[in-house]
Amino acid sequence: MRRMTTQLAREDLSKIPLYNSDVRVELNLADNTNLWGSPPSAIAAMQAVVTGGAADYPDLYGASLKQAVALIHGVDVSCVVTGNGSDDVLDCAVRAFAGAGDLLAHPDPTFVMLPIFAQINGLQPVAVPLTADHQMDAAALLATGARIIYLCTPNNPTGTATRPETILRIIAEAPGLVIIDEAYAEFSGMEGWIGRAAALERVLVCRTLSKAYGLAGLRIGYGVASRPIIDAVERSRGPYKLSTIAEAAGVAAMLQDADWVRTRAAESVRNRDRLSAELATLGLMALPSDANFLCVPTPHALAITAHARSLGIALRAWANLPNIGPALRITAGPWPMMERACCAIREALACV
Ligand SMILES: *Cc1c(COP(=O)(O)O)cnc(C)c1O
Repeated sequence: MRRMTTQLAREDLSKIPLYNSDVRVELNLADNTNLWGSPPSAIAAMQAVVTGGAADYPDLYGASLKQAVALIHGVDVSCVVTGNGSDDVLDCAVRAFAGAGDLLAHPDPTFVMLPIFAQINGLQPVAVPLTADHQMDAAALLATGARIIYLCTPNNPTGTATRPETILRIIAEAPGLVIIDEAYAEFSGMEGWIGRAAALERVLVCRTLSKAYGLAGLRIGYGVASRPIIDAVERSRGPYKLSTIAEAAGVAAMLQDADWVRTRAAESVRNRDRLSAELATLGLMALPSDANFLCVPTPHALAITAHARSLGIALRAWANLPNIGPALRITAGPWPMMERACCAIREALACV
């Protein structure tokens, strides 16, 4: 029997939401990108590639980016995998380490893509609420018996870094793969787990060039792990995921603009704390953050976001985060942008 065209796709796909993002606004404080722009060396590297054209395929697995990662983090190049954004590394890892019907446990709230990657690959996501002090709940994550446990530190959208003892316990007791997403590590002032990932047999640490590195538009991410884990992720990844232009820009940013990145990250952290103090004068108490954004619990989250949107400013809002309630998320950037956001928030609060 011929199926109707609306029934040709896998049935479970209809449950997977399409991602919604508000980037086409004047001031986008909703995606935690680098609001100072891109590193100059990366722009120059892109221009050089443009001049040479793009008739050839890129490198199969991003060899020169792997070398840059190995150098920066002091790890062996055979312990690095690259991807089309760290989203791609996460997605490939999910399908390399679990299959149809397996469980993937993740904290709730966390990065919204994780349950989606689980579903796309046929896994069942299990949301485990954060503890009352916004920490990962090691016992509850382990109790799921999930084949993959995903951790994010500092966590998105709370901004909270996970205590090392929590992570060590999960690594010691997890039955399967442990993914540690360090998308915001550059802002945390902590070394993170990336240098240790290869020695911690069942751990994959993921990072991105979309946040501190200011290259979200190029889609560059990477992972570090022991060789058998990298081998599995790379098989499920397939070749040619990093374009020539992305690889060249990523390598330039990592090797030539470390200072540019560090300086902006430091300013972002200073402005984040200044913004937190400013919001407190409006009666809004942001959660402590180790990232380049603030999570601000407020019953007026949706009203504030709608007003800001009418002024061309995108903020992220949640109607009800577990253990937190309605909340806003604001990316920290240059101070004049923060002033604009504060002004919009003040106006919105005056009307509620
Ligand atoms: C932004 C973000 C990513 C996505 O990174 P890409 O490299 O742009 O795919 C991954 N994890 C977390 C927690 C993020 O906030």
